[in-house]
Amino acid sequence: MSIKAPRGTYDILPPESFNWHYMERVLTETAELYGYYEIRTPIFEHTELFTRGVGDTTDIVTKEMYSFTDKSERSLTLRPEATATCARALIEHSIYGGAMPVKWYYLGPMFRYDRPQTGRYRQFRQFGVEAFGSDSPYLDAEVIILLIDILNRLGLNNYELHLNSIGCPECRQIYRDKLVAHIRPQADKLCKDCQVRYSKNPLRVLDCKVESCHVAIAGYPYIKDYLCDSCKTHYETVKKVLKDNEVNFLHDDNLVRGLDYYTNTAFEIHIPDIGGQSAIGGGGRYNGLVKACGGPDVPGVGFALGLERILLALTKEKEVLADNSYADVFVIAVGEELEDMSTKLVSKLRKNNIKSDKDYAGRSLKAQMKFANRLGAKIAIIIGEDEINNNYFTVRNMNKGEQSQVANDNIIEHINNILANS
Ligand code: AMP
Repeated sequence: MSIKAPRGTYDILPPESFNWHYMERVLTETAELYGYYEIRTPIFEHTELFTRGVGDTTDIVTKEMYSFTDKSERSLTLRPEATATCARALIEHSIYGGAMPVKWYYLGPMFRYDRPQTGRYRQFRQFGVEAFGSDSPYLDAEVIILLIDILNRLGLNNYELHLNSIGCPECRQIYRDKLVAHIRPQADKLCKDCQVRYSKNPLRVLDCKVESCHVAIAGYPYIKDYLCDSCKTHYETVKKVLKDNEVNFLHDDNLVRGLDYYTNTAFEIHIPDIGGQSAIGGGGRYNGLVKACGGPDVPGVGFALGLERILLALTKEKEVLADNSYADVFVIAVGEELEDMSTKLVSKLRKNNIKSDKDYAGRSLKAQMKFANRLGAKIAIIIGEDEINNNYFTVRNMNKGEQSQVANDNIIEHINNILANS
């Protein structure tokens, strides 16, 4: 039996990987424009980090973690997300002692034992940012503006930004009691998951996807009517800054984050066009997280984007994302006796930063030309007997079908000229 990649995982082969490079470049370069720099952390952490930092009532912790015991009987978990990891790193390196805010981005694989389907995997990739150490609503707005800037630069258009405020632990407790009182008479009509959520984490009943739960809780109170003055001002400022910066959003009363350390701003990006898994990312403020992970009282705000879903949306909107040529120049020489010459020429091209390749399969001239086409080469350089005897190369512009003779010494300049104008 042949061994396949585990369920819910997949390979990214060229030229698909070209699209990933393109997307990752836009993500990281845009984040750096806003002053966010990369943090790289381990792929696995102590399981306790996620039970504390993600929350032991969440689906991630209760159902989806890849946990294992190592040879020293430690419980470790493949990271299901990276915010708790960033909080752990902030505490471990005492970074909160320096200039604030600390602004990080991360990019890499996450692992969740989810039910695989389109846009949902067991190993998937996230890009996210975290800004620690400031309570300013302008920082919430910056994080959202950065997210929208990324989507625009990638060329995505049909997204919706959903926004809400979930207040602070004080005003949320008052709201939570009202919500529980509203749901209580209907509790037996809730789905199995919501029966548990209702007692442990009632806000999460609001974003349950089961239709009958929505019907059961109809007419429920909205958190926006229970925000304290300070949380109201915070939310109003975020909305004002977004409007000032021409970021469109939809206020969404159903958008909640059930855990105590989430505070104030909550947001999600949806792309309805990509079907069932329309959420491509989300984030918010989490002023209680660093403390929950065992550190000091340091506020934070951030987001995470699911890269598979972004790519799905991008490939729906555009056929070609990135330059998908394997080589700009293909050197054609037929016969073993010319192999030294073609090797020397590709070396020279590569030393001059020209993406180039040659034949290694003993193909005929025609077959090499065909192969050059398949690689997407813009130029073919042909070396034959006559070329060697008279110190020139035949250069074929593949797009225009034009061919010319170029003296050996001028080859780099000539190729650069064609590439610059192609
Ligand atoms: P979350 O950390 O759950 O807020 O997820 C943030 C984003 O990561 C989601 O909006 C998705 O785009 C993506 N995501 C979460 N889980 C998966 C998964 N199992 N497969 C693919 N993408 C995912």
